[in-house]
Amino acid sequence: MSLVTETVRYTYRLRPGVQAETALLAEWNRCRFLWNEAVHQQKTGQRPTLCGLSKLLTEARSKFVWLREGSQVAQQQTLRTYSQSLNHSFKVKGRGRPRFKARKRAFPSLDYTTRGFSIRDGRLRLPAGVSIPVVWSRELPSEPTSVRVYQDSLGHWYGSFVVRRDAEPACEVSGSIGIDWGVKVTATTTDPAFDLPYLGHRKRCAAELDRAQRKMSRRHKTGAAPSAGYKRARHEAAKLHQKGANQNKHDGRVWAKAVVDNHQLIAVEDFKPTFLAKSTMARKSADAAIGAAKRELIERGTRAGRTVVLVPPAYTTMTCSNCSSRNKTRLGLGMRTFRCEACGFEAGRDRNAARTILATAERIRAGVDDVRHLLPPLGDVVDAVRVRNLPA
Ligand SMILES: [Zn+2]
Repeated sequence: MSLVTETVRYTYRLRPGVQAETALLAEWNRCRFLWNEAVHQQKTGQRPTLCGLSKLLTEARSKFVWLREGSQVAQQQTLRTYSQSLNHSFKVKGRGRPRFKARKRAFPSLDYTTRGFSIRDGRLRLPAGVSIPVVWSRELPSEPTSVRVYQDSLGHWYGSFVVRRDAEPACEVSGSIGIDWGVKVTATTTDPAFDLPYLGHRKRCAAELDRAQRKMSRRHKTGAAPSAGYKRARHEAAKLHQKGANQNKHDGRVWAKAVVDNHQLIAVEDFKPTFLAKSTMARKSADAAIGAAKRELIERGTRAGRTVVLVPPAYTTMTCSNCSSRNKTRLGLGMRTFRCEACGFEAGRDRNAARTILATAERIRAGVDDVRHLLPPLGDVVDAVRVRNLPA
C-alpha cells in the first residue's frame, strides 16, 4: 500500500522562563499594534493590501527603534494573517471583518516561518536570542515548516508546528450514515450503534463555574486594576471552562474516528450554534459538545477522503424518511416521536431526522443540484391547509 503525505499540526507545551516570557509578550504587543493599525486602515476606508501593508512595515521599521527591536518575520506574518482574514471576511459566509485586538482580551499568538525559528538542543530558538524549553510529548515526524507560539486563557504557552507526515490511506469502506444533532443525545445517527450520548461535561462543571464567576464579579472593581483575588478567581473559571472543553474534544475525537472508519458517505446536519445570552446553560453546554464533535468529524472525514455532506437543517424533523413527504405541521419540541401523515411511518424524532438527512445527502450525491425541488415546497403545504378550510 502506498503512503500518502499529509500536512498537520503537532502541538507541544512550552515552558518559557521569565525572560523568554517577557520577550514573547513584548513581541506580541508589537504585532498587536500592527494588527490594530491595519484594522484602523480598513475602518477608515484605506483598503489595506498585503503589499501596501508590507511597504508600510518597512518604512515604520526604519523610523521606529522599538518596532525594529522585534522580529521582522513575526511582524510580517501578523500582516499576512490579517490580510488573509480580511479576504475570508469577504468570501466566507458568516465570517466578520478582522477586529481590534484589545490588550486585555486577545490572547498572544505569534507566527514564525523557517527564517524566524530553529530547534536546537531540544529548545525552540526565536529571534533576539529567545530560547524556550519544549515538552517533547511525541516526536516530530519531519522538519517543521512553521510554528505558531501562543498562550491560552490559563496562561500556558504552546508551540504548534506545521509538519508533513506519511500516513496510510484510509481503508475503502462502503457504509453511509446520517447524523442529527441534539441536546439530550449529542448525535443521533441512522445506526443506533454510532449514537453519541451527551455526557454533560460542561454542565457538570457548571455549578463550579458559576461559583467561580460569581467570585469574579464580587471582586471586580470598575476602573481599578484587577486585584490578585480577582485574577485568582478568573484563573479558576478559565480552568473549569477548559476542563469541560477538553473532555468534549476527547469524546468527539473517539466518536468521530469510529464514524469515519466505518462509513464512506457521511451526511451531517449543518447545525450552527447561536450562543444567545438568553439560552440556558444546558443548551450552551450541549451546543459546545455538538460543535466539538462536528469539527472533529468534518476534519477527520475529509482527511480520510470520505464524502462529507452538510445538509441544511430546515424541515428535516417534519419530513418522512420513509416516503419523503412532509408533514403539514411542525413537530413540537416536546414530541419525541415522528408519525408520517402520508404513509403512517413511525420513528424517534431524531432518528427520523438522521434518516432524512442521509436521504437528502444521497440525492445531492446522485447529482441533483437543488434538493429543495424534491421536497414539497412550503407554499404547497399552506395551500393545502387553506383548501381544506374552505366551505364545501
Ligand atoms: Zn411517510
